[in-house]
Amino acid sequence: MPESPSKKPKSINFTCDNYIYGAFTPPKEGAYLPIESPVTGTIIGNVALSTAADVDVAVQNAKKAFPAWSSLTVKARAAIMLRFHDLMRVHADELADLVVLENGKNKSEALASVLKGNETVEYACSLPQLIQGKVLEVSRGITCQEKRDPLGVIVSIVPFNFPIMVPMWTIPIALTTGNCVILKPSEKVPITMTKVANYLAEAGVPPGVFQIVHGQVPAATSLCDHPDVAAVTFVGSSPVAQKIAQRCHAMSKRVLALGGAKNHLIALPDADLELASRDIVASFAGCAGQRCMAASVLLLVGNGTELLDSVVVRALNLARGTGAGQVGAIIDAISQKRILKYIDEAEANGATILVDGRHWATETKGHGYWVGPTVILHTNPKDAAMQDEIFGPVLSVYKVHSAEEALAIENNSPFGNAACVYTSNGGHAEYFTSRFKAAMIGVNIGVPVPREPFSFGGLYGTRSKFGDMDITGDGCVEFCTHRRKITSKWSLNEGSIDRANFAGQM
Ligand code: NAD
Repeated sequence: MPESPSKKPKSINFTCDNYIYGAFTPPKEGAYLPIESPVTGTIIGNVALSTAADVDVAVQNAKKAFPAWSSLTVKARAAIMLRFHDLMRVHADELADLVVLENGKNKSEALASVLKGNETVEYACSLPQLIQGKVLEVSRGITCQEKRDPLGVIVSIVPFNFPIMVPMWTIPIALTTGNCVILKPSEKVPITMTKVANYLAEAGVPPGVFQIVHGQVPAATSLCDHPDVAAVTFVGSSPVAQKIAQRCHAMSKRVLALGGAKNHLIALPDADLELASRDIVASFAGCAGQRCMAASVLLLVGNGTELLDSVVVRALNLARGTGAGQVGAIIDAISQKRILKYIDEAEANGATILVDGRHWATETKGHGYWVGPTVILHTNPKDAAMQDEIFGPVLSVYKVHSAEEALAIENNSPFGNAACVYTSNGGHAEYFTSRFKAAMIGVNIGVPVPREPFSFGGLYGTRSKFGDMDITGDGCVEFCTHRRKITSKWSLNEGSIDRANFAGQM
């Protein structure tokens, strides 16, 4: 079990040391945590456990690198990103293999996550066209210029479920706008981004501009607390997101903390059966349900028997594994236990388990962590599985009598990440999209992930999002920069220049 720290074990594959000023560096106290593959349950490496002292070294190096990096033109930084984009493309397959190994996704999901991450790099490459700022003569002889300056050192703290894609939300835009970035990967999946550090260096990112500090809570909190860290982006569970946002705001730091989710899909009687059932199963079982965009609750307006039968048949046909179309592993034993507990409790409360994925856990005991797709038909909407984020391949189904009843359930969730309606009628779609309490809304698409140049993230004021601005798109450019306004007034004008005198002073 990987929970307790140990001294560095021998003869394992990957050693994830911190990446400090262009070199892989052991943590000062020499403590490491084993990394376990969720696919096999075997130890595949070890990851540095950093302390405040390691954090301080990284921050001091970032501060040292900042003046030269921030004084490059945005075009020069974008040119480096363009080379990095190409390296990500060339090495996509190798990076996807690492994602499969340490996270347990299937290979096609892993590859898609690398390519999606590279979309933000592509967006960053276009920043010279997007952040020119404004210049306007606001009164005769008075000109206002607005320019964007980088903040300094930005920290990115990320979760386990997308080892490369989620870090790639913050890093490209923060770097291209002229900031230095310190990444704290999830200690459960530290390998892929350790590899990516090499490609950032190969692309031309100078030492100290991008660094990695590995570890758990002490590393994360020390990064937030360091007085020379200007801003923090966080992606992870809601309780931690809230704590990080409060911690950073208490120090008057800019922070964006994206939290968990409970995404509702509402199927109307006029939904396209084939499209809806395929999409619903892909949404709840894809990435083994370990994505913040995964469908969690399906509300059937009306009887919905035909759609539910189709969902059940598709879910029963899914196979376990990391091949294309298969359902991948659960990240660790703790997560597996949590998922199984929700299914057991729902059953004990009278729900019907239409598709039962619990046998995958028993069949694979001792060989990784697996839970099969599970479909639960509830009679009580207050069941914990209907309310809490489970973060596994579990779909809770509940039949409602009206659109209003469905919306009330969705609107009463404390989360506000994603929601989707399945319908063949544009008017019905508009009715729901304008009333959902979520920021990423789908019409006939159960994983409504906005693509670049759009922003990503839940609704502010819910447990899915705390803090300021956005993690991608123009909201991230805003997050990573100060707007500065320079107002200039010149008393001289063409007619009043004493040309002789002026020339003499040159
Ligand atoms: P987590 O909150 O346990 O960990 C996230 C990161 O925070 C990790 O790097 C971890 O080391 C660190 N951390 C953990 N506890 C901490 C603490 N007390 N103080 C400071 N740092 C701490 O999340 P996870 O289990 O890695 O990821 C799953 C969660 O992430 C789910 O809730 C999922 O919905 C959420 N998520 C959200 C989005 C989004 O865009 N909203 C995207 C991906 C994942």
